[in-house]
Amino acid sequence: MKQGLSRRDFLKLAGLAPFGVIAPPLIKKIGLQRLMQGEKKNVLVVLFDAFSAKNISMYGYERETTPNLSKLAKRATVYHNHYASSSFTTPGTASLLTMTLPWTHRAFKFGGEVAKPMVNKSIFHAFDDYYRIGYSHNPLVNIFFKQFQTNIDEFVPREKLLINNDGLIRILFGNDEDIATISWSREMKRIEGTYPYSLFLSHLYEKYQENKIASYKDMYPDGVPNINSDNYYTLDEGIDWLQDRITELPQPFFSYFHFFPPHFPYRARREFSDVFVNDFWKPLEKPRGLFSEDNSEETLGKLRARYDQFILNVDSEFGRLFDYLESSGILENTWVVLTSDHGEMHERGISGHTTPTFYQPILRIPLMIFEPGQQVGREIHAPTSAIDVMSTLLHVTGHSMPAWSEGTLLPPYATQSTQPDAGVFAVGARHNNPNLAISEATIAYVQGNYKLIYYLGYKELGSDSEQIQLYDIQSDPEELNDLSLTQKAVASDMLAKVKSKLAEVNKQYPTS
Ligand SMILES: [Zn+2]
Repeated sequence: MKQGLSRRDFLKLAGLAPFGVIAPPLIKKIGLQRLMQGEKKNVLVVLFDAFSAKNISMYGYERETTPNLSKLAKRATVYHNHYASSSFTTPGTASLLTMTLPWTHRAFKFGGEVAKPMVNKSIFHAFDDYYRIGYSHNPLVNIFFKQFQTNIDEFVPREKLLINNDGLIRILFGNDEDIATISWSREMKRIEGTYPYSLFLSHLYEKYQENKIASYKDMYPDGVPNINSDNYYTLDEGIDWLQDRITELPQPFFSYFHFFPPHFPYRARREFSDVFVNDFWKPLEKPRGLFSEDNSEETLGKLRARYDQFILNVDSEFGRLFDYLESSGILENTWVVLTSDHGEMHERGISGHTTPTFYQPILRIPLMIFEPGQQVGREIHAPTSAIDVMSTLLHVTGHSMPAWSEGTLLPPYATQSTQPDAGVFAVGARHNNPNLAISEATIAYVQGNYKLIYYLGYKELGSDSEQIQLYDIQSDPEELNDLSLTQKAVASDMLAKVKSKLAEVNKQYPTS
């Protein structure tokens, strides 16, 4: 017997029982019984948020964070130089889902939406002959799901996989979750609200929460994993649910599951929670620069160890999911993809991913593609982009590449003619108004061995208003040696390409 207030009791107490039926997942009847099975392969995309390739032992990280991925690499196509299109969830995920760069989809800002013309240009739209399901722990992604909703057969509410299931926010404050969440913060968290009604609800809510998470505390010595401080979840339950749901889905399906780990706060399950914190391993100390934050090496070291432990937890759960997919037979007719929306860093005084810098730990993310029935590993070292992933999945499942896609086909699925060495872009413009031309931004451009980072319009740049860095990421993957002053020809050639691309995009927008 569970102790304490159940959800239903809470709703009753709060006088909301008449409205207290939580809407089931928005499952649209697809009309046909089950779509023809066997002819078309399914697609399963599993995204782990803020998962940096830098900290993955499969890619050479010194700590053994991913024993399962290393094992599975022998049956996957592994991309070693795969780049996110930006540095945080909103622009990174929008690029993955729309196959366009941030300067096209315009979801730059925290909590931003894609521009109106992009609403019917998502991967869900492109898979219109498939059963399409989407889930995300991360509320920033649910903003897009809502925009793409007419093209999603099953948009699973976020609270489905939250322990303290705050779907009652919707009931209390209406259907607009963004507004509701703001209201919720004000009213329930007592930041501003001092109304007796709010206080009454707030006390009840706290009690309700405490009881819900109490049984998980032993399993998580660093704290029960959470999102935005009070939405608790566990990855285990997410993976369990995914396994159950995917077994029942109409086929062929296109499925996108976006899980929060290893995103901060880093809270690994008990068996992983002290693996690295006391191992005394110290990474290379890197120089601090213009955009460095003031975290000490000691602080960064502690955060990095906890992040690495959370990755170990992710690796274990992905291993468990993979075993299930194999034993259930789903793997035989399903393309499985593991990737992320952006990376994370703990160096140069910087922690997390809110930095304007575009160093490799922020941009380089994992990509593994498991072809149905694949038994041999392949390794791809060419630079590839997040905008290429969905385009490729469309191609390999017999769909044509949509006209709006800015991605190219990934090797080895590309033929020579469809893959010019155009290079890979990433764009961050967190503070730029999406309706105006881009004037404050970080743009990275990777071509061959070189990576150019262009900083534009930040106040830290002073009167220069722009700055570049150039690295040979093949011989200097740690980005210790800025070549912008010694390899001037390469730098100016790459900068010219960035500027011409930016000018082309900016033409369509006013400057103020
Ligand atoms: Zn993210």
